[in-house]
Amino acid sequence: MNSQQIKTLDHQHIAQTYGRFDLALSHGKGCLVWDFEGKQYLDFTSGIGTNSLGWAEESWVSAVVNQASKLQHVSNLFYTEPAAKLSEKLTACSGLKRAFFCNSGAEANEGAIKAARKYSFDKYGKGRYTIISLQNSFHGRTISTLSATGQDTFHQFFFPFTEGFEHLPANDISALKTRLAQGDVCGVMIEIVQGEGGIFTLEEEYLATLQQLCASQDILLMIDEVQTGIGRTGKFLAYQHFNLQPDLVTLAKGLGGGLPIGAILFGEKCQNTFGKSDHGSTYGGNPVCCAAANAVLDQLTPTFLADVKVKGDKLRAALLNLPKVKSVSGLGLMLGIEFEEGIKATDVVNQGIQKGLLTLTAKHKLRLLPPLIISHEQIDEGVKILKDILQKI
Ligand SMILES: *Cc1c(COP(=O)(O)O)cnc(C)c1O
Repeated sequence: MNSQQIKTLDHQHIAQTYGRFDLALSHGKGCLVWDFEGKQYLDFTSGIGTNSLGWAEESWVSAVVNQASKLQHVSNLFYTEPAAKLSEKLTACSGLKRAFFCNSGAEANEGAIKAARKYSFDKYGKGRYTIISLQNSFHGRTISTLSATGQDTFHQFFFPFTEGFEHLPANDISALKTRLAQGDVCGVMIEIVQGEGGIFTLEEEYLATLQQLCASQDILLMIDEVQTGIGRTGKFLAYQHFNLQPDLVTLAKGLGGGLPIGAILFGEKCQNTFGKSDHGSTYGGNPVCCAAANAVLDQLTPTFLADVKVKGDKLRAALLNLPKVKSVSGLGLMLGIEFEEGIKATDVVNQGIQKGLLTLTAKHKLRLLPPLIISHEQIDEGVKILKDILQKI
């Protein structure tokens, strides 16, 4: 097929829920990807932070192929080796106690919400069910994770939303103290760096206070690491930059290196909150997806993570030197660029496609999520293309 035929079929037969870029991709290798007409692109998107190791990384491909040829799915009525191994790695890397596997970020957050409510119900009985999240957050597209999402644009059409969610302004310690003191809150859900909300990093003092307030009032600290996790920020999990000890952590995007898998990690307190038949997911722990995730985690050595930080620092410094750049936010290889007045991030994305560079937006910012394996030369190349665009825009 050629690109035009693909686009025509899509427009006719796929629900038109996405504002797609005008580009159909055919195949990729590392940080490079090609369209159906053979044009090459340098990727600063990683499939929105999923392809942690880039395209077709050898150990990942062979793990997926091997597992698919042995046992592609068995259901959760049986034990499987890939899920068992993955749970051991995730608990070792995070310091949390148990994992539950599912298929997406929204599903992981949905499960974490259930866990926080059940933890509180088991201990305190009815009525202590409120989940606090932050304004400008993004936690998913199911009815309850939309309720947790702190952006008005997501709270339309689909009424009634799940009750028991409230949104507080980020970094406002006194608002947090006042609200938690009311005694009906079971969990606080945050992103360390708000991703879809515009690459906005929470302040250290706020995080430390939140940790302390949650611990002293037995409120579960829930960290949504769906976008920030799995090495994206230069630590295995972004909360590790701030020495936090969350009770619930959710993962998805980068975990499977491009295959759909999500996870909830449970800390000490709530490790047994879900007992037999309290929660489930048919595809959760799928052996092929878990084998893919194991291949990703095997690459994320301390040296690899330190290198992500070095490359992130280098990219940030180079971006700050570009014309028309007002500020650069984010951590590691999760960066947001704010431009001077009058420059639209979507125009930069579209010109990037013309010039062979793939980028994303988050609100009014340009968002960069390159594969974690990007080389220094490829960073230079991407920055050069951006410079060229910004000089002429
Ligand atoms: C993408 C994202 C989600 C939703 O993940 P899906 O896999 O699309 O359901 C949730 N939280 C954060 C922080 C995200 O970036």
